[in-house]
Amino acid sequence: MSDTLAISNSELIFALLLLTINKEKRMSIEHPHLAFEQHEQSLKDKVILVTGAGDGIGRQAALTFAECGAVVILLGKTVSKLESVYDEIVANGGLQPSIVPLDLKGATLQHYNGLADTIASEYGRLDGILFNASVLGNLCPFGQIKEEEFDDVMQVNLRSQFLMIKALLPVLSLSESASVVFTTSSVGRKGRSFWGTYAVSKFATEGMMQTLADEYRNSKKRFNCINPGATRTNMRAKAFPAEDKDTLKTPAQIMSTYVYLMADVSRGVNGESLDCQPK
Ligand code: NDP
Repeated sequence: MSDTLAISNSELIFALLLLTINKEKRMSIEHPHLAFEQHEQSLKDKVILVTGAGDGIGRQAALTFAECGAVVILLGKTVSKLESVYDEIVANGGLQPSIVPLDLKGATLQHYNGLADTIASEYGRLDGILFNASVLGNLCPFGQIKEEEFDDVMQVNLRSQFLMIKALLPVLSLSESASVVFTTSSVGRKGRSFWGTYAVSKFATEGMMQTLADEYRNSKKRFNCINPGATRTNMRAKAFPAEDKDTLKTPAQIMSTYVYLMADVSRGVNGESLDCQPK
């Protein structure tokens, strides 16, 4: 009797193993970005701007893009954080990056036009932008959102992207294959109580991406969104202070989707919103 049970147990384990393998296979067919294996040539010589490159996911994306052969333009608010990323890229043998210290809260179209001119004269083109910088704002009932805070969150998370894309479109047009990646969130697809302005800014980000993707569908530029999913960063800790951080993926563990969207392999992908951690 116990022998029979032992056999059926191992059969069960075998069946579960098969199911897991098939699930992995299925995931890689349905989500090729998850199966994408980056290497040191994946982004060879591409010029890529990363916003919020000093911390969290943006920091890791900048390091990973450099490891994959890109020249990375590091834009962010805190200069010391950008310098630390710069040093790490150089120490790892990556191509020399550039630093653009800029507070998106106060930046105007003039700043972004200046950035576009500098990129054009330094590099002759821009092959990619990762719009990653964002602020969470306060999570609170909708009626309690302060007008000034609404404006600040929208300025950093949305309006800065509008101004930057407006200024940088001409220099993106100088690339043979340009990829613009916006960062969304699950609350940018389905509203959630108390996520107020942040959620609204992410819905609008998806809208901006879709509008651009449609407008440029027959061009050498593509526009997509990425949803990192729950990831171990300061922003996540602020939103979920009681959560066990060890249960979360690290930024390094979600990079395949980021490199995939920047690499030429995703040339045909436009107007999509990809999940790094699909359910
Ligand atoms: P972090 O808060 O860890 O990092 C945010 C980055 O944005 C920092 O480098 C920060 O710079 C920069 N930034 C913030 N405000 C400004 C500003 N005014 N001007 C310039 N740079 C600024 O966030 P994450 O890494 O967690 O998030 C990255 C992206 O992923 C965001 O768009 C977020 O909405 C999204 N996301 C994250 C999830 C998660 O679980 N972590 C889940 C879903 C989406 P500094 O450090 O100098 O202030």
